[in-house]
Amino acid sequence: MSTTAYLDHAASTPVRPEARDAMLPLLGELHGNPSSAHAPGRAARTALERARREVAAAVDAEPAQVFFTSGGTEADNLAVLGAVLGAGRNGTAPIAVVGASEHKAVLASAHAATRFGGGEIVLPVDAGGAVDVTALRTALARRPAVVSVMWANNETGILADLASITLACAEAGVPFHTDAVQALRYLEVPATVPPIDLLTISGHKLGAPKGIGALVVRSRALLEPLLHGGSQQHGLRPGTENVAGAVALGVAMRLATAERADEARRVGALRDALERRLLAAVPDAQVIGAGVPRVPHISAVVAPGTETSALLMHLDRLGVAASGGSACTTGSPEPSHVLQAMGLPRALALGFVRFSLGRESTEGDITRAAAAYPEAVARARRTEGALHG
Ligand code: PLP
Repeated sequence: MSTTAYLDHAASTPVRPEARDAMLPLLGELHGNPSSAHAPGRAARTALERARREVAAAVDAEPAQVFFTSGGTEADNLAVLGAVLGAGRNGTAPIAVVGASEHKAVLASAHAATRFGGGEIVLPVDAGGAVDVTALRTALARRPAVVSVMWANNETGILADLASITLACAEAGVPFHTDAVQALRYLEVPATVPPIDLLTISGHKLGAPKGIGALVVRSRALLEPLLHGGSQQHGLRPGTENVAGAVALGVAMRLATAERADEARRVGALRDALERRLLAAVPDAQVIGAGVPRVPHISAVVAPGTETSALLMHLDRLGVAASGGSACTTGSPEPSHVLQAMGLPRALALGFVRFSLGRESTEGDITRAAAAYPEAVARARRTEGALHG
């Protein structure tokens, strides 16, 4: 039995053996530059374009619409900032409209737009984590360059209603971006009419290594590049491609697609069992988003009278690896911006833990977490009591 129950798959997943095996030749004999015309270059190019086809097939796109990036953060930046910088071409204004509970890669990109002469509009979300539709419609009337609303929230797992947001954006002639990083492992891209314009993928959330991702771009004309200096990927994302990473991403996405329904059921059942046991052991704890559609692998739990960093430290000592939401903001003393945006009282939001499951998760991990959590809560409450008592 593993010494740690790893329940932080929303932060990063192990690289799948099939993905690792597929990328190894690219680090060895297939080392050519995919832009070189000689045989080694052509071999690398062949591998890269096969990967592009695999990624495209997994998200129901054309290969030419897949632009490899260094990960989800870069793809979000390219979508949001690239659209703002490219505004005007289709009659749009240089404004980014984003949900208040977006990943920081989107929120900060929208904010960065203000430093380039653009604007940002942050849409409030309701207690269930959904963006305010009236605020969206008001924002759309200004013909922004892009609307960005994430498919599955990385802290709560709550799913957005992509179909109606896509439709509202399309009716207003405004491109729509969704960060699909947490959803793609378990859900099929919905066949919205029209299709989603811009979609972010990150490799390390679905069995590929860190440092590879992609932005799916329905129309190249929507975006201005953020990087300059090469003609790779039609100049939209110049720079020599991470061929080995792209190959691993292609394999991981192909396998994820094949297993999707079964894994969603299996992981969802484990997650539900975990939540039942956590709530039975700590009756005043709450599961965030319990009543609304969520991805199957994320469980956001809050316990009053506790504090995230203490809970995580005690869980870690008890052999459970979880997180306090986005790994990128770990260590921040402020409660999660997502829970704050949903209007959760600060005292509750402060004691937030995210458990996230994956392909390697087992019943044993759930048993371990269900035993450790009440103990961690009790210890954290003792510390809080001593500090404030
Ligand atoms: N978007 C979401 C929803 C995420 O969960 C993450 C990772 O934490 C990212 C973007 C960033 O992806 P990457 O780590 O590949 O830059």
